[in-house]
Amino acid sequence: MNDQNPTVSALTVASLLVDTEPYLSCDDCFERMDQYVERRLADRHHDDLEMTTHLAGCGVCAEEADALEALLREDAQ
Ligand SMILES: [Zn+2]
Repeated sequence: MNDQNPTVSALTVASLLVDTEPYLSCDDCFERMDQYVERRLADRHHDDLEMTTHLAGCGVCAEEADALEALLREDAQ
């Protein structure tokens, strides 16, 4: 009966980690944002899984990234 417990708890822990713990904190995200946005502008195929994962789940940082990208685009013109 107890045989199933390790599997269940491992799955539960995994799903909790995915749901509640983005790879980056907002502080980490802000620190890397300049570089990330610059690279995205230089190469639209550039991807940073940690950043995109955080931005997908954090509206504040996603908005900040959008604003920064718009700013850099204007500068480049
Ligand atoms: Zn954030």
